[in-house]
Amino acid sequence: MPTVTSEKKRPAARSAGRPAPELIFGDLWEYDPSPETADPRLKARYDHFIGGRFTAPASGKYFDSINPANEAKLAELAHGSAADVDAAYAAARKAFDTTWGRMPGRERAKYIYRIARLLQDRAREFAVAETMDGGKAIKESRDFDVPMAAAHFFYHAGWADKLDYVAPGRKVAPLGVVGQVIPWNFPLLMLAWKLAPALAMGNTVVIKPAETTSITALKLAEIFQDAGLPPGVVNIVTGFGDTGAAIMTHPVAAKVAFTGSTEVGKIIMRSLAGTDKKMTLELGGKAANIVFDDAPIDQAVEGIVNGIFFNQGHVCCAGSRLLVHEPVAAEVLAKLKNRVKVLRIGDPLDKNTDIGAINSKEQLGTIERLVATGVKEGATMFQPACKLPSKGYYFRPTIFSGVSMSHRIAREEIFGPVLSVLTFRTLEEAVEKANNTAYGLSAGVWTDKGSRILKMSTELKAGVVWANTYNKFDPASPFGGYKESGFGREGGRQGLLDYCKLA
Ligand code: NAP
Ligand code: MG
Repeated sequence: MPTVTSEKKRPAARSAGRPAPELIFGDLWEYDPSPETADPRLKARYDHFIGGRFTAPASGKYFDSINPANEAKLAELAHGSAADVDAAYAAARKAFDTTWGRMPGRERAKYIYRIARLLQDRAREFAVAETMDGGKAIKESRDFDVPMAAAHFFYHAGWADKLDYVAPGRKVAPLGVVGQVIPWNFPLLMLAWKLAPALAMGNTVVIKPAETTSITALKLAEIFQDAGLPPGVVNIVTGFGDTGAAIMTHPVAAKVAFTGSTEVGKIIMRSLAGTDKKMTLELGGKAANIVFDDAPIDQAVEGIVNGIFFNQGHVCCAGSRLLVHEPVAAEVLAKLKNRVKVLRIGDPLDKNTDIGAINSKEQLGTIERLVATGVKEGATMFQPACKLPSKGYYFRPTIFSGVSMSHRIAREEIFGPVLSVLTFRTLEEAVEKANNTAYGLSAGVWTDKGSRILKMSTELKAGVVWANTYNKFDPASPFGGYKESGFGREGGRQGLLDYCKLA
């Protein structure tokens, strides 16, 4: 396990009459390794899932899926081509016309409910597979990703026989075949976010997971078979960006839904201009987590840590900018550093690990490059002195203080465990700084005053504003962006509206 070397005690700055925080930790306790041992039941090779069957790629080509924690090969995945995407759309069209699109909602509900139950039955196996394929700490895949994915199927199973209430006074109808492409940060959960509302509404789907994290999607296909889901209702094609582009632009798709980077979102929008496809885009973010001087500081520090270091910062709504009220800035920063020193980084399968592996070598390179610009542009960098495993892709939790709005680390999405700390003096300044970004996905506010929370939540241009908490999700709560963070909502009644036509 990694160790943190002790740092000499030094007096911290006094602020606003509060006692100066002392360094309370020296060396980090060593724990014995505690790896999760459930068998992930991986196959050596995964084909596409088309028309209810695992289907070899037309090209005969496969690519490797790697465990980013140790760089070992986990499995081979089918390399999707335009021919595979065509076959997937043909299967989806047939399923829409002959079974799923005609089935009463109460019957569809039974299948979706069964999928949720089967996923719960295999939860530990899925959590281990998710952690091995993507690098996230097992306590996250076990306690968050897999249960939340099941919760999304349960929630939407509950809607499938109540669709008359999605838009009271109007009639809803499915759109047809939907094309979906998702990223690597929450592979199974993003899959559930995309599939559950589409299926509940009666659509059929062609979906591509991210190239680095496709395994749990194909394991879920085993569950579709066990649940007796009619062939062609969900079709999974694996591959790279060109496979994603073929799914997004396919003529059979009545709607496309994409979650990923703003850059690719813009390419998709351009390629679909002039078509009548419906579209929802869930893109990047650069959220502000705003701490006022009357906030419960210890609670806020936990929220800041959760906001940016959760899932190695591979979170679109990560609180990557901390805006802290000047009177408490020194206190918050000192407590934050203390907290970061005791985070455990290392083997993602270990139950004590807080921060697992960065998803890929490419992403590690992106984080390193952006962090180097922070240093070059003059911000002050803090990293705990922990050891990192010798193999695999890891990055220390990093806090930049003395950041100004013009720094790249304050403007660009880093998508890693890197926090930029800025200060403010008035509420107006906090709002101005928080909104001064191309993105608008999420924000956090920490204060004792309810009126300030209400004022901030109206002023902040973000799809979700958390108050005195961070990164809280519920299938009933719609999620989505403003500005370059995209459009459309996922979750809740609003999410279902994006998968239907109204009459
Ligand atoms: P990405 O590079 O945009 O990739 C997302 C998906 O699109 C992947 O499956 C990718 O395939 C595919 N793709 C690549 N080029 C494509 C193209 N030209 N046409 C169609 N599909 C294409 O994003 P990422 O790096 O995987 O994910 C991180 C980004 O996702 C971040 O910006 C994050 O903020 C965002 N995100 C947003 C939300 C949200 O709800 N707003 C949620 C999660 C993540 P390959 O894997 O083969 O490249
Ligand atoms: Mg992988």
